[in-house]
Amino acid sequence: MAGQRPSRTALAGPSWPARLLARFRRLLERLWRAPVSDLFPARADIDLDAIASNLGVVRDAVEGQKLLGVVKADAYGHGRAECARALLGAGADYLGVAQVAEALNLREEVGAGPRILAWIYAPGADLEAALAADIELSVGAFWALDQLAVAARSTGITARIHLKADTGMARGGFNLQDLPEAAHRIRGLVAEGVFELQGLWSHLARADDVDCGLTEIQIERFEEARSTVKAAGLDPVLCHLAASGGALWHPGARYDMVRPGIVLYGLSPNPNHRTAAQMGLKAAMTLSADLIVDREVPAGTGVSYGHTAHTEEDTRLGVVPLGYADGIDRKASNVAPLVINSQPTKIMGRVCMDQFVVTLPEGATAGDRAYLFGDVGAGLPTADDWAEAMGTIGYEVVTCLGARVPRRYHGEG
Ligand SMILES: *Cc1c(COP(=O)(O)O)cnc(C)c1O
Repeated sequence: MAGQRPSRTALAGPSWPARLLARFRRLLERLWRAPVSDLFPARADIDLDAIASNLGVVRDAVEGQKLLGVVKADAYGHGRAECARALLGAGADYLGVAQVAEALNLREEVGAGPRILAWIYAPGADLEAALAADIELSVGAFWALDQLAVAARSTGITARIHLKADTGMARGGFNLQDLPEAAHRIRGLVAEGVFELQGLWSHLARADDVDCGLTEIQIERFEEARSTVKAAGLDPVLCHLAASGGALWHPGARYDMVRPGIVLYGLSPNPNHRTAAQMGLKAAMTLSADLIVDREVPAGTGVSYGHTAHTEEDTRLGVVPLGYADGIDRKASNVAPLVINSQPTKIMGRVCMDQFVVTLPEGATAGDRAYLFGDVGAGLPTADDWAEAMGTIGYEVVTCLGARVPRRYHGEG
């Protein structure tokens, strides 16, 4: 109290047993406190058993080809380390990433042994680090061939390469006209022990467009590439051309190894041709968040930035704490579906940076869980449904999920 002298005990502070007890309590609290990620009111649940089962779907569809599981872009947003381990556990022969930087991180995550292929690097990249980490590299340009040869010579490590030919994507890879020259030079480097030709490969541009005819043309060009390489005296260990769409829908494109990505995460390369459920795939990611607001607004209320939506009648609105900072694209505004308490609803008004508004189903209140997407078998909209509503593809919906959203892993893989 003001003006009064503190008592002797207050000056001295708590007795030593009390201090010890308080310290012990703080320690216990720290041990028991939920991790910081629990404070984030949204999460992506990742089902590693679904990923393993989806790899099995690919294995059952092909005829004994090797399987390269693609885990680029943080495993399409699902978490690279966890998904890579699940895929290896389920018997994947190879892991694939786009960037060499991803490959170096992946090597740390899976340890020595598993084979890793990376296909994107720029002139001047530290290819010695890639060789030291036992990363197999795509070679699809003369500068890459030269720089990798320099790195292999200086480290004394034989570079295991996958020669890339362009057969119709017009992205990376040697033009077929340049392939004889590239193959000739590689032949010399193989003879010297600088290179080992682990693969000849290419990528399909329209495998999801099943009847367009381009895949057949690309297969013919790939055959030409194989002949060229053979004529140069080379014998690639693995020929590979097909990603998910090619592996499942173009048996002639399977060769020695297939490179599935999207189907491993339980989405279809083209849901208009066949949905994930029709293929026996299970969505690996379920995205959900706790409602942070429930409120009643009158008819005619303008909702969120720009008032792009107005309530038609007295309406109960909720707020979901996810926004474009979390990868919920603004194109989802007013269109993307959700499920709350097993009832369907959708986004109302514009998606903001950290939150968006929904119309609430009967009885839903703050604290109830809003499901954005997951597996159709769980009665949820799918990432492919979101993609259709937004005019994009399921790949983008899952891959763009922001790093801020905690991932929680379930299953063994
Ligand atoms: C991304 C990618 C894949 C996997 O493609 P999906 O359509 O997801 O199966 C395979 N190969 C290459 C070269 C890729 O870039």
